[in-house]
Amino acid sequence: MLRIAVQTKGRLNEQSMDLLKEAGVTVSQEKRKFLMRAADFPAEIIFLRDDDIPQTVAIGAADVGIVGYNEVAEKGLDVEILQKLGFGGCRLSLAIPKTENYTGLEYFNGKRVATSYPEILSRYFAENGIEAEIHTITGSVEIAPTAGLADAIFDIVSSGGTLVSNGLVEVEKVVFSEAVLIGNPQLSAQKMELAKKLMSRFEAVRNGIGKKYLLLNIPAEALDKAIDMLPAMRSPTVIPLANSQWCSLQTVVDEENIWNIIENLKTIGAEGILVLSLDKIVL
Ligand code: ATP
Ligand code: MG
Repeated sequence: MLRIAVQTKGRLNEQSMDLLKEAGVTVSQEKRKFLMRAADFPAEIIFLRDDDIPQTVAIGAADVGIVGYNEVAEKGLDVEILQKLGFGGCRLSLAIPKTENYTGLEYFNGKRVATSYPEILSRYFAENGIEAEIHTITGSVEIAPTAGLADAIFDIVSSGGTLVSNGLVEVEKVVFSEAVLIGNPQLSAQKMELAKKLMSRFEAVRNGIGKKYLLLNIPAEALDKAIDMLPAMRSPTVIPLANSQWCSLQTVVDEENIWNIIENLKTIGAEGILVLSLDKIVL
């Protein structure tokens, strides 16, 4: 049995639960409890605040966990990063009031910087020879300069909208983060096997994102041209049709290129084009 730590609520909860569901690890949606047994995989899910996930995994009270890389880097605990999960993207940045004139990193010498990530920031300042005062606050860091609590902030940025609405400008991007699967470094062989199974399922789900399955009929004489137009995973599947002048082509394509591909294929005589949605790709 593998115990998986997931954020109770907040930004990563929904996508973590969706990913687990797509990977065949589902729990009842009705009576949400703190610890829940999965119906279809030998796992249980423990719901925690994201701050507590690295430690829970480090001490082995959970075997693996889904959490932002930023939390893992801040806590500096003994956990392994098993897999990047491709959602929850953000960065930790230094920002200053937009009325200030930024001169480079030395700007921060002697300044007071508010953050919820004091460890990452003090490491960064130390590496760059900056001596600043780090002021740790857990709540709304972005209001600290206006409130007179600090000269600058070091905080999570995704779109940058929060900075703008607080009259701040991002001046240094320090750490890039996304949700990661972390693991206890001493997992038993049996748990490691389950964790690996989970990772390969996660990978299959991620591979399917933004992909479509394309099926079409093409005159046999235009087959080579059509194959050139298709970015197949290995090479497209070609199936002869009852009418030997025609064949059927099947392949996986990126959703974002789909219309260009379809229009190009039509110019060489493709017909009966079907675009099917696709869930998972196991390579
Ligand atoms: P908890 O109640 O579990 O402690 P929280 O309030 O600390 O939650 P959330 O705001 O839910 O945390 O964010 C969880 C994670 O989502 C962050 O640690 C970060 O990895 C990621 N994230 C992505 N974009 C953003 C963003 N714009 N602001 C904050 N976090 C973001
Ligand atoms: Mg938190």
